[in-house]
Amino acid sequence: MAIIGIDLGTTNSACGVWKPQGVELIPNRLGEVLTPSVVGLDDSGEIIVGRTARQRLIHHSDKTVAAFKRLMGTGHRVGLGTQLFTATELSSLVLRSLKEDAEAHLGEPVEEAVISVPAYFNDNQRQATKQAAELAGLTVRRLINEPTAAAMAYGLHQNQEGLFLILDLGGGTFDVSLLEFFEGVMEVHASAGDNFLGGEDFVEAMINDVLASRDIPRDSLPASVLQNLYLQMEGAKRKLGTPQTLTLDLNGQSFTHEVTPEWFARIATPLLLRAKHPIERTLRDADLHPGKVDEVVLVGGSTRLASFRSMVGKMFGRLPSCHLDPDTVVALGATIQAGLLARGEGLDDVVLTDVCPYTLGTGIINEDNPSLGDYFLPIIERNSVVPISVERRLSTASDGQTRITVKVYQGENRLVEKNVQLGEMEVQVPKGARGQESVTVRYSYDMNGLLEVDVTVTSTGKTYHKLIEHSPGGLSEEEKAHSRERLASLKFHPRDGEENRALLARADRLFESNLGERRERIADLMGDFEQVLDRQNPLDIARAQKTFREALDFLESESWF
Ligand code: ADP
Ligand code: MG
Repeated sequence: MAIIGIDLGTTNSACGVWKPQGVELIPNRLGEVLTPSVVGLDDSGEIIVGRTARQRLIHHSDKTVAAFKRLMGTGHRVGLGTQLFTATELSSLVLRSLKEDAEAHLGEPVEEAVISVPAYFNDNQRQATKQAAELAGLTVRRLINEPTAAAMAYGLHQNQEGLFLILDLGGGTFDVSLLEFFEGVMEVHASAGDNFLGGEDFVEAMINDVLASRDIPRDSLPASVLQNLYLQMEGAKRKLGTPQTLTLDLNGQSFTHEVTPEWFARIATPLLLRAKHPIERTLRDADLHPGKVDEVVLVGGSTRLASFRSMVGKMFGRLPSCHLDPDTVVALGATIQAGLLARGEGLDDVVLTDVCPYTLGTGIINEDNPSLGDYFLPIIERNSVVPISVERRLSTASDGQTRITVKVYQGENRLVEKNVQLGEMEVQVPKGARGQESVTVRYSYDMNGLLEVDVTVTSTGKTYHKLIEHSPGGLSEEEKAHSRERLASLKFHPRDGEENRALLARADRLFESNLGERRERIADLMGDFEQVLDRQNPLDIARAQKTFREALDFLESESWF
């Protein structure tokens, strides 16, 4: 039975199977090799995964979730409709969708997989990934680090030895890893990176510039207009090679916007400069001259940006390796590993150093604007090399205060409310004037995602201690069973229904972003299509799908590009 290779990405996921002639990437039910890592509930409460769900992200934000990979290994739950789900459960839905696609493609059951994870994933996050697979009915034969998978896709594991730098710029993250292939083992050295830099940021910057240059406050735009603008900019970003004139409909006014290389360069420069830092830091940490790197490999959809490629070219004085499709190169590598494992020849890879992928901090009173809730005070900054221990001092905020509550948060937002609370502890302090009493809060974080919090009251010397497991090491059998039950109770779409939903979701989106006659036209098309669906004749449906799709293509091309 086949072992499939899976790239479970923050933005997109993909899978493949090893065949005698090499890797075969597996198309999903919509015929695409990339499945957006987005989960949603449709209007009838059924679970949808992938492109159909992604199309509903802005309009149905309460019923759609994305980027949950960022929360892997935390107990944090996100709302989807009326229920709450962990990142593990949501990931299991994506994995399940991939598994079903693979089974449909191969015509046989699929029960085993190699799944890639970021090199900086700690034990909890790796464990959570395995649990997600288990919930989806897959046994993980091996987890593989994403940069290792990319290196294998480029065949670097067939070299004698060497130093490789893997630059992975995805939708929302930038990961830099230095790999050393030595005596048959791929060693992953310090992974630096920027957890909040990716393709989405380029689109955001484009949108902000367009709005700022026309003095339009972002909040004044309804979701449908924003969604439209987002799609236009995302589309424009992918076609920077050709000059484009966009017609933007913003609050009832129509603007034309020229997308030129000069404009994009101005927008992209600050982001590209940010991308330079972790690359330089990695080289500096390893005390490495750029010329000593044997191979620079580009991974992730956003490395298609010509400006990113030329920046890397300039830094290293040569062209990076990028001839493989950067969106699927990790899935390719995971599948090669699956192929090797099937023959008992899997490649070993180890992570040598680890970083704390998120900022850990505490809350402090927000005196400027109490209604916003407390401010976040970072204690351990993200990407700090672990183990690490840092302390900060906090003082009482009001007269006569006898207790200080130290809340522990993980996240990057200025406001604690937008970050994830990991725990809290209460500390007694002697009564005194405001600011007179203080405590030192020490955070110590180790490789396994264990956070130790030590609080010492300065005046009394009394100490308090708390150990926070990011997510308690593995769930109990009972919790697992509960999770399984919850997932089983969800309603799933039949595979072949998916294409129809995708088309209707797309039409819905078009309807919401258009007006007048075009709206009527779209409503008519949807009505016709729904009637055909009602009659449930497969042949008619296939024909109607084609007409409907072409009509939507036409409407889209007319309005946007
Ligand atoms: P992740 O690893 O986060 O799941 P991917 O590697 O799939 O992400 O990258 C997704 C990102 O790649 C998106 O932000 C998308 O806009 C970007 N992208 C895809 N194709 C292109 C292109 N041709 N030009 C620029 N960016 C692209
Ligand atoms: Mg990726």
